Amino acid sequence: MDLPVAEWKSYLLQKWSLLPKSIQVTVSTAETLSDVFLQSSSLLQPEDEIFLKRLSKGYFVGKDSGAPLFYREEGNKKFQEKDYTVAAVLYSKGVSHSRPNTEDMSLCYANRSAALFHLGQYETCLKDIIRAQTHGYPERLQPKIMLRKAECLVALGRLQEARRTISDLERNFPASPTLADFPSQSVQRNLHHLKMKVQEKENLPETFPAALAKTLEGVDLGEENKQLSNASSSVGLCMDPLKGRCLVATREILPGEPLVKEDAFVSVLNPGELPPLHHSLDSKWDTRVTNGDLYCHRCLKHTLATVPCDGCSYAKYCSQECLRQAWELYHRIECPLGGLLLTLGVFCHIALRLTLLVGFEDVSKIRKLCDEVSNKDIYLPESNSRVKTLNSGLGEIEKNGKIVETPIPGCDVNGKYESNYQAVFNLLPHTENHSPEHKFLCALCVSALCRQLEAASFQAVATGADSSRLKAAAAPELCPDVTVWGVAMLRHMLQLQCNAQAITTIQHTGSKEGIVTGSRQVRLATGIFPVISLLNHSCSPNTSVSFISTIATIQASQRIGKGQEIVHCYGPHKSRMGVAERQQKLRSQYFFDCTCPACHTEVHEMAARPRWEAFCCNSCRAPMQGDDVLSCGRRGCAESVRRDHLASRLQDLRQQVGMAQKLLSDGELEPAIQQLLGCQRDAKSFLSAEHAVLGEIEDGLAQACAALGDWQKSATHLQNSLRVVEARHGPSSVEMGHELFKLAQIFFNGFAVPEALSTIRKAEEVLSLHCGPWDDEIQELQKMKSCLLDLTPSL
Ligand SMILES: [Zn+2]
Ligand SMILES: [Zn+2]
Ligand SMILES: [Zn+2]
Ligand SMILES: [Zn+2]
Repeated sequence: MDLPVAEWKSYLLQKWSLLPKSIQVTVSTAETLSDVFLQSSSLLQPEDEIFLKRLSKGYFVGKDSGAPLFYREEGNKKFQEKDYTVAAVLYSKGVSHSRPNTEDMSLCYANRSAALFHLGQYETCLKDIIRAQTHGYPERLQPKIMLRKAECLVALGRLQEARRTISDLERNFPASPTLADFPSQSVQRNLHHLKMKVQEKENLPETFPAALAKTLEGVDLGEENKQLSNASSSVGLCMDPLKGRCLVATREILPGEPLVKEDAFVSVLNPGELPPLHHSLDSKWDTRVTNGDLYCHRCLKHTLATVPCDGCSYAKYCSQECLRQAWELYHRIECPLGGLLLTLGVFCHIALRLTLLVGFEDVSKIRKLCDEVSNKDIYLPESNSRVKTLNSGLGEIEKNGKIVETPIPGCDVNGKYESNYQAVFNLLPHTENHSPEHKFLCALCVSALCRQLEAASFQAVATGADSSRLKAAAAPELCPDVTVWGVAMLRHMLQLQCNAQAITTIQHTGSKEGIVTGSRQVRLATGIFPVISLLNHSCSPNTSVSFISTIATIQASQRIGKGQEIVHCYGPHKSRMGVAERQQKLRSQYFFDCTCPACHTEVHEMAARPRWEAFCCNSCRAPMQGDDVLSCGRRGCAESVRRDHLASRLQDLRQQVGMAQKLLSDGELEPAIQQLLGCQRDAKSFLSAEHAVLGEIEDGLAQACAALGDWQKSATHLQNSLRVVEARHGPSSVEMGHELFKLAQIFFNGFAVPEALSTIRKAEEVLSLHCGPWDDEIQELQKMKSCLLDLTPSL
């Protein structure tokens, strides 16, 4: 996903391995990134580009005139099954393949408005009705859509407008002879019904619409930090001789305190994990739902009612405004390159978008300066204020005519670090740590992209389209300008390996009828956050990160003493991976040896495997010890067994649990329970009581019991699962928060009021360490609490 697709990657690596030794050496020993880029791109042959073009065609990103009808019919099937969410997504796919102002487009919007209506999304439904009408909704179907509009207005309490719509309908309906195919009786009946509703509503006392407006602003950082933008005043930027830049607490920080709030400098939506669909007869168009169908490609807002780009079927947005902004900032260049960008991967895409956002002039200025500084040819800025601010980020600045060293790279003349391109440019690309073949691979991806940009710009010039950015790239093959752009993109691509930040969201999963939902973190997009990039890694961090749209918030997840470093986990967390695996991952991806306290203790004490993956003795349940052959740890017990035997038993068990989960999600509750109980008996005979698999089994049993309405049993199972989660992730971890949330739901549904209230309180306490008050689960907890307090005022 981040890197190019496998076929292109292996093609390039093979190309590299077949290069003459002398050329490999030239690329490997190139001193600067420009040399790497120039050397590599001179090796990109037309046949390579043809191969790449063929791969790009595997992604269908254009508009297909046959698709709207197909998707509308598929959507109608889901609509019949009352699966309105999937129906809405399928209609959206139909919209994205339609041309503006066509019946196709208006019908897809109209059908989507019906699905949204059933989902209770009345505001969005009204928007879709207007969209259907502006794109030429057929006259003969008007009554249908007008009725829906009136229903929405009634539901929203906008009664005057509702009345106006109804009288419009009454006025126009008998006059229109084209309504033959519309059963008039049903219209009359519905109209009557609606009028009754309006009357009913009018007799009700005035109610205010539930103003649970989620503030997109999120948390407030309080007093402004003069040294570091987007950070609270409790955070300081320092230089550590070993670690480089790092953030420290300038005073004591309390758990839950917000520390950094930063909007992504650039972000690109992850296309999802689905492989490209190679068109076959039975599946010409893709009906699978990905994050690309559910989230705005610019602001990442969740929506079922996307509006598509006019030029492609790939880019979709939450609103006309996001569409317009994306188009102006970058998509007009990216639009014709959709398939190519999907083939080259997210990192390459971010590198391009970053240079487009910043603009050619600034990219070339910053890069030129960087080259000159690295060549020890010190650049004296012209009397141009813009150049001055750009120059100052390179580690050396000019003050009163002499060159002084700034203490911290990325800061401006006054020592302030800001979330800007200068800071992005200063993120380390680790050029010396990447392997030569990796640099070659990235350079060829970037130069293939540059050649496409050039080709597109010639076309744009030929068709008279005016685009200064394209003109900047409209130059003969690899003229200096394109090289500047290419080298900057190559630098960004190499930086991303260590500096990309995953933008995630929590998605709720679980069987439809079961109240208990699971939740999992999914990666929505990849972005660059210059301030957050200053945080160093720890396998046991003292902060948590959460996102609203493209804005990241870092909160303290525990008390941080004055002077202590503020750290964040890059992925390898001690509750998810053993120390050896973490060290290996951090070394290969981030090029450092982790010396965080968790790694230090685990390496030095040679701790036994964590309890959540330990085996226990078959006869006495004591922990088993040893490497290849395990023996019982209790004196006097002679049990011993080979590790690979236990590993294969564990694998079988996982498969059985997977089957049970499948039964559960299919609603086969009794068989699921039987299967899970069997797994539990088996698991208890060889796994430690806190083994992760035992936790999963308890969780499954809790879900099944909840779906059967047996709240008491469900709660007991979930409490067992909670113990496993606590042993593995710690009592104040976000995982613990999600689990407590589930338990609160169960107590709530079972009307166990005191238990529910105390669990809600605990869940709120834990979750608020990791995410702000806008979080879905926290809001849900508050609703449950106020509902319980309303029902039982004595509490
Ligand atoms: Zn948006
Ligand atoms: Zn487009
Ligand atoms: Zn570590
Ligand atoms: Zn034993």
